[in-house]
Amino acid sequence: MFTSTNPARQSDVVTTIPASSTEEMVAALAAAKLAQKEWAALPAPARGRIIANVGRLVEKNKEALSKLVTREMGKVYREALGEVQEVIDTCDFFLGEGRRLYGQTVPSEMKNKNLFTFRMPVGNVFIITAGNFPAAVPSWYIVPALLAGNTVVWKPSEFTPAVAHALTSLFHAGGVPTDVLKTVVAEGPDTFAALEEGLKRGYINKVGFTGSTAVGRKIGAKAGEYIQSACLELGGKNPMVVMPDANLDLALEGALFAGFGTAGQRCTSLGTLWLHESIHDEFLSRYIALVENAKVGDPMEDVLFGPMISEKYLANHLEHLKMIQPHHKVSGSTATGRITKASPRKNFVGDPDQGVFAHPVIVSGITKNDELYRTETFGPLVTVGKFSTLDEAIELSNGHGYGLSSAIYTSNPESVWRFREGISAGMVSINNSTSGAEAHLPFGGNGMSGNGSRQSGIWVLDQFTRWQSMNWDWSNKLQKAQMDLIEIKHDPKFMLNIK
Ligand code: NAD
Repeated sequence: MFTSTNPARQSDVVTTIPASSTEEMVAALAAAKLAQKEWAALPAPARGRIIANVGRLVEKNKEALSKLVTREMGKVYREALGEVQEVIDTCDFFLGEGRRLYGQTVPSEMKNKNLFTFRMPVGNVFIITAGNFPAAVPSWYIVPALLAGNTVVWKPSEFTPAVAHALTSLFHAGGVPTDVLKTVVAEGPDTFAALEEGLKRGYINKVGFTGSTAVGRKIGAKAGEYIQSACLELGGKNPMVVMPDANLDLALEGALFAGFGTAGQRCTSLGTLWLHESIHDEFLSRYIALVENAKVGDPMEDVLFGPMISEKYLANHLEHLKMIQPHHKVSGSTATGRITKASPRKNFVGDPDQGVFAHPVIVSGITKNDELYRTETFGPLVTVGKFSTLDEAIELSNGHGYGLSSAIYTSNPESVWRFREGISAGMVSINNSTSGAEAHLPFGGNGMSGNGSRQSGIWVLDQFTRWQSMNWDWSNKLQKAQMDLIEIKHDPKFMLNIK
């Protein structure tokens, strides 16, 4: 049984849902696999109309779903509204793709022969997602996968089963058959056992995983054993570089939102703020003042951030606090760790003892030898370091091996281009925060942040379709490629004779 509670008011039970056993998950995978051929036979424009229905239904239910997102996982309500809007935007983008899903006509090297390509669905997809974006990130998988003619079994985070249930019911109400999208709720180890069994029995043709790098590594390896490439969307340690010529007010606003929005629990949250030595002290003291004075608390109110997703995420945050070294300086609040009446926070909105709230923490004096430099902290903790040249900033930004999001604040175009070229992250923001994505631009990371797959826009179709090529020879003879060459008369020794 999973009981999800409101992390801002733990006495508020959001839902109680039975856990799916490994056998039940394998049965769900088998049923979805069986339903896939019929779903793929529905013309893509008709599937697009179903996605359109889902988009309109999510729009009609936007407030209710957003409130549920806030209640179950704790992000502030205006962020939850943005998250649900992203589901709508994703549906709006892909409903049109139902009328495109283009293949190509390709010229043949032989006469009386035509070449074509078609996008084919991969089959049945097992999708496993994290709790920090319980609606938007799953929709990045589910919408294009369904549109392309695949069936889906979705295993959401065990911390957000109510949002998963609500979103699934909107898909079904929009016309997606129940065997075409099945949702199961389970713990990690049972999910892994179902993944292995589903791969073994041939019920899974594609795996989509969003979560930590440690789990992604295991899932990618397991998929690889069955000659599959999983779509892996993993953690980040996202750098923000502030150059001396930056608009500092803008950079401060970006660093505040990127560092502490969603209590730092975004894959694109600011990891380390790299400040040029000439502005380091001024910027840091202004940043500290902003964070010290920010409102934290009830996510339905106007606060910078609300609670952690659950006790588990607070416990992880407390572990990360242990990585702080004597050479670091800690600031940002009246204390570190859990906010309680006994360990209060200035400007707290609500009753901290009712929820899972953490003090924001700024750790300055970070160096590349520190554990905090290379650890994704996934909580309200921002590390700050100093650099003297752009090359050094780029090296520091790449040195930990993650490569999801990155940002530079500068007014110098040369710095923009050098940063873009040098940074290994899949996403680069110029004079903008590391977090925030548009639903039609490729989203994804490199290195420890992902295996190169991209979500969103047309690019995600490469995850959920495979190219089938067709050649049609209507010459009524066996023409052999590379052997039956058309002879071309030419004069290879020709030179112009101009005086
Ligand atoms: P997590 O890896 O603990 O869990 C993610 C999902 O995997 C959950 O549904 C969980 O139940 C399941 N899971 C856990 N162990 C498993 C196993 N052994 N086999 C199969 N499934 C298993 O991550 P989390 O705490 O839910 O989310 C936080 C992480 O997700 C952070 O690292 C964050 O950066 C990352 N994230 C990445 C993106 C992205 O798009 N790159 C987006 C959101 C979150």
